[in-house]
Amino acid sequence: MDSGTLERIEKLRMENAVGQLDLIGRRLVYGAEHSMWELDTRRLPWSVRRWRRKARKFAEQHIRPLAPEADLDPHAFDPMPVITKATEWGFQNNMADPRATLLHSAVAEEFATECGGIALAILAHNLGVAPLFLSGHLPTWFRHFFPLYWRLGRGKPRPMAFAITEPGAGSDVEEPEGGAAARLVTAAKKVGGGYILNGSKTFISGGAVADWVTVFATLENEGLDSWTCFLVKKGMQGFSVGRCERKMGQRACDASELIFEDVFVPDDHVVGRPRGGWAINRNTLNYSRPVVGAMALGHGRGAFERCLDFCRRTRLGNKRVIDYQDIQIELADMMISLWAARSTIWHSCRRIIANQSLSAAAKVAGSDTAFKVCNQAMEIMGDHGYLHANGVERSWRDSRLTQIYEGTNQINRLAVIEQQWSSDIDGDGSA
Ligand SMILES: Cc1cc2nc3c(=O)[nH]c(=O)nc-3n(C[C@H](O)[C@H](O)[C@H](O)COP(=O)(O)OP(=O)(O)OC[C@H]3O[C@@H](n4cnc5c(N)ncnc54)[C@H](O)[C@@H]3O)c2cc1C
Repeated sequence: MDSGTLERIEKLRMENAVGQLDLIGRRLVYGAEHSMWELDTRRLPWSVRRWRRKARKFAEQHIRPLAPEADLDPHAFDPMPVITKATEWGFQNNMADPRATLLHSAVAEEFATECGGIALAILAHNLGVAPLFLSGHLPTWFRHFFPLYWRLGRGKPRPMAFAITEPGAGSDVEEPEGGAAARLVTAAKKVGGGYILNGSKTFISGGAVADWVTVFATLENEGLDSWTCFLVKKGMQGFSVGRCERKMGQRACDASELIFEDVFVPDDHVVGRPRGGWAINRNTLNYSRPVVGAMALGHGRGAFERCLDFCRRTRLGNKRVIDYQDIQIELADMMISLWAARSTIWHSCRRIIANQSLSAAAKVAGSDTAFKVCNQAMEIMGDHGYLHANGVERSWRDSRLTQIYEGTNQINRLAVIEQQWSSDIDGDGSA
């Protein structure tokens, strides 16, 4: 292209064309170019915007350098230093923030952009804390939640984990039909002053490093409707960590078996009321599913950003990969998918009180989009995408897990149907 044509193209670009308008016209048109990240950040409420910027800085400084090794050799990786740093930066004690879900989603995306495993090692804590807060039970708040908050606020970590899954019950404890027929093994027997807990939980993220665990158990010889949430602390007699799984993705965070052998749990360690566990569990999942969607989004964005970098640096024939229009169309498609998923997630988090359908939709949109975008990045990068050093295959592996935990995406779709059944699906929409 000759220089005259290039000059004319340049003049026609939106940013420059705006200059042709008079003053009022210029005020009505937004021509400035911002990165996708900056554009989105500016659309967040001010308080959350601040957290998004802070989380990005933290992720670049404290997660990025650890990510490759933590993924390659997770058993040699000690997550406590980074968890401690995250606590010092204030990322572990904002559950009671008026915009907690949006804030956690914004932070989760930033952390996961760098490394899913380290992100999970830090964020699993919030999932463990959620039942304490969401129980809405004042004695639980005063006995456990506020003292924990105070400690975390002083930068002292106390990692927590959330334990519902059992060897024979995964989806069953995430939707009512499965729940009614669930075969649960973790049970609590009432004794003087407390309960005796027996059984085991599996796949518990951060279970090996957690100081405190919110554990869900049926009352002896009863079904899921008796489910009760207990706060179990490291060091309680009979509580131990069993096997730690070898994982495909998010490897830097352990997924552990927790074993309860005649563990005495005092009455004041019941979270909420006895038999209140099912509602607390459902509410916790509704709070956390958008955050999982946001983590997934981070994996997708990480893959996208690394792919972009590759396209800029690599030459194919006599031009850079990024100069091919079919590549540009593919990149635009990835950006649009990420935007659509982010909109769904942020929309679901606008209110602090979670809505089951919106939460499940956010989780599905984030995770399905991330997996697709990671695939597109690998497609564009070819053999380079397959190399560990480039980080895209890691995002691809990390993103796959987000389609499985917190209820598989099939179960999340059923959650949407359950919530919308009488208002939309089987009704006339008037409910
Ligand atoms: C790495 C990892 C970390 C985890 N972290 C935690 C944690 O911190 N705490 C915790 O409590 N749990 C955790 N989990 C457990 C996780 O939430 C469950 O694995 C998940 O909910 C799926 O349950 P499942 O594996 O038993 O699958 P299953 O319930 O056995 O499902 C198998 C298949 O059947 C499908 N299916 C099941 N029911 C239906 C239905 N009614 N209709 C249609 N399809 C159906 C599912 O979609 C899936 O495809 C973790 C799991 C993993 C892998």
